[in-house]
Amino acid sequence: MLKVSGLNAGYGSVKIIWDESFEINDGEIVAILGSNGAGKTTTVRAVTGMIKPQSGSVMFNGEEICRHTSRQILDKGIIQVPEGRQLFTGMTVLENLEMGAFNKELKGHFADNLKKCYAWFPKLEERAKQTAGTLSGGEQQMVAVARALVGEPKLLILDEPSLGLAPNIVDEILGVAKDLAETGVSVMLVEQDITKALAVADRGYVIENGKITLNGTSAELQGNEHVKKAYLGI
Ligand code: ATP
Repeated sequence: MLKVSGLNAGYGSVKIIWDESFEINDGEIVAILGSNGAGKTTTVRAVTGMIKPQSGSVMFNGEEICRHTSRQILDKGIIQVPEGRQLFTGMTVLENLEMGAFNKELKGHFADNLKKCYAWFPKLEERAKQTAGTLSGGEQQMVAVARALVGEPKLLILDEPSLGLAPNIVDEILGVAKDLAETGVSVMLVEQDITKALAVADRGYVIENGKITLNGTSAELQGNEHVKKAYLGI
């Protein structure tokens, strides 16, 4: 599904990510792990066309998308839930979800997708008419995830979904990611919380100082001595 090879990217002349290669198969949850400032969000921005990679390749379902615009990439079904959610805080929950149906076809599917979102996150139905900015952090994250789901992602990118949230809310959101993956949707789970991420991911890659230093199945990474010492505190 997604195959990134030799990716270099950054801001202006500053290079942040160095020669990254990773792949995500259909229906797989792949964690992109690393501490604050490691380069995870920059990787997401390069994959989603928000910054133009300096070099390398991003193949999606056999097509090179490295030079595509972010809108073209969105239309292909790569949809991200950005770090910090970026909701329209002055609009209601329902209006935010409507924004996720970004083309005519999706607008036609909106009623069905809204039902699915309410089944995944029943709180959102109760809060449909409430202004998004007045919701709790956890509820706002649910809106951000539901808005992405209304876009019918083929690859869903979750950027730090656990940030600042209570563990039970994180579990609820990651549970939805797991259900989605079972329907064939691929999930790129970008996380600092390695314990939570590896509990749901099939595989993971560790980024340190802009480079992928380790990769393996979740079980392999959980048992890796460097991961244990540097990230899990064991
Ligand atoms: P975090 O968990 O804090 O988001 P991260 O692993 O996602 O960490 P990035 O946001 O990719 O890290 O940041 C990697 C490096 O790129 C950092 O040194 C950061 O200061 C720098 N950086 C991020 N955004 C920009 C920008 N718009 N312009 C210049 N440098 C940036």
